[in-house]
Amino acid sequence: MTRRLEPGRLVIASHNKGKIREIADLLGPFGIEPVSAASLDLPEPEETGTSFIANAELKALLAADLSGLPALADDSGLCVEALNGDPGIFSARWAGEGKDFAMAMQRVWQEVEARGPDAGYDAHFVCALCVAWPDGHTESFEGRVDGRIVWPPRGDQGFGYDPFFVPVGHAITFGEMEPDAKHGMSHRAHAFAQLKALLL
Ligand code: IMP
Repeated sequence: MTRRLEPGRLVIASHNKGKIREIADLLGPFGIEPVSAASLDLPEPEETGTSFIANAELKALLAADLSGLPALADDSGLCVEALNGDPGIFSARWAGEGKDFAMAMQRVWQEVEARGPDAGYDAHFVCALCVAWPDGHTESFEGRVDGRIVWPPRGDQGFGYDPFFVPVGHAITFGEMEPDAKHGMSHRAHAFAQLKALLL
């Protein structure tokens, strides 16, 4: 049976300040008090899972186990159909230690071009969210947004692979969109819409 998330403290198992703020804004109205993983000195586990959900689960379970509180983790990335879903769960790693996304986008584009003219540019972003409790129970959700990649990258809004992703039904990239417009249709928005079922 689905377990509800009661008002109270929730560990956000992320060290990314932007993500923590975004999650705090979304969950604040439901009486959820976010606690950052950094404030509890929680370690960041190695992402050894083979799916977005598996990686979100391992991060949330470790944080719940170590803190004794419910914990929320997310894992996300860009999947390119012509590359059989790559970079996928390796999206952050393709940008290297220096988090060089210009290089990562170029690598993705070159690999697609190397597949020949029929490879196509279809792609989608995925966001997995997992809430874990200290007794090992988990509730997980996955959201996605479909689109295509374009070259050259355009726009300086957003982050990561945003400048070369155009969502279906639009002519501009996530990098050119106002943040509110992106947040209304993104993979993260779709995953959070499902997570809200735990709060109502
Ligand atoms: P993680 O979920 O922190 O392991 O990393 C996900 C990686 O996927 C990020 O570093 C970004 O490169 C990429 N990514 C995830 N969501 C987005 C998005 O909304 N826009 C652009 N890139 C994203």
